[in-house]
Amino acid sequence: ATAEGPRLSRAAAHRLSLYLRCLTAWPSEAEKISSSQIAAAVGVSDAQVRRDLAALGHLGQRGIGYDPRELAAVIREALGIHRPWRVVLVGVGNLARALLRYQGFRAQGFEIVALFDNHPNKIGECVEGIPIRPLSELQTTIQQEGAELAILTVPKEAAQSVADCLVKAGIRGILNFAPVVLRLPPHVQLVTVDLAIQLEQLTFLVQHADDALPPS
Ligand code: ATP
Repeated sequence: ATAEGPRLSRAAAHRLSLYLRCLTAWPSEAEKISSSQIAAAVGVSDAQVRRDLAALGHLGQRGIGYDPRELAAVIREALGIHRPWRVVLVGVGNLARALLRYQGFRAQGFEIVALFDNHPNKIGECVEGIPIRPLSELQTTIQQEGAELAILTVPKEAAQSVADCLVKAGIRGILNFAPVVLRLPPHVQLVTVDLAIQLEQLTFLVQHADDALPPS
């Protein structure tokens, strides 16, 4: 968010992404969609949907619903995906190769413009048609390519030092797959994908699932 713009919480931004999935899967573009239809598809309350959409300045008309295309455009703009983003990736191991094979990024407007690694045997190799460059080219490549985002798939021991280099090179946001808490300056945004933590969330929920059941 800009200094003067509305500041969305991460949880709200996550719900907007879910609403957008629902809107793009909506069968008929001509047909309106109601907040309760979005709510049912996503699994949140009707009131929550209306609050989130009202916070975007998008008030549906009671009894009429939202135009799905128009609403999708408003959400895309709030999420920042109404325009393309250039992305670099550092650490071209197995996880990175799997990510690079996934075609969905490009479809969403994320273009991977450069790959980096520090292993001498990997430099010069092409993955999905993109050459792997040495870290010494990080700064110039990021600036020349106008990359704003970085995907970090290095081992956890290397993550902080590589992140520091990315910050120095002018990157504005990092998607971190290393299972560490990175320290970044406040002008650089961080999202961490930690699969072990997500599995722990799942085991917590499974373990306590019975707690929520009404006494029989
Ligand atoms: P591989 O066996 O091909 O290296 P991997 O997935 O087991 O794959 P990891 O040890 O997870 O490899 O490391 C991921 C990638 O990060 C590797 O390609 C490794 O060379 C690279 N890497 C490790 N340290 C750094 C670093 N400081 N800077 C850039 N890349 C690094």
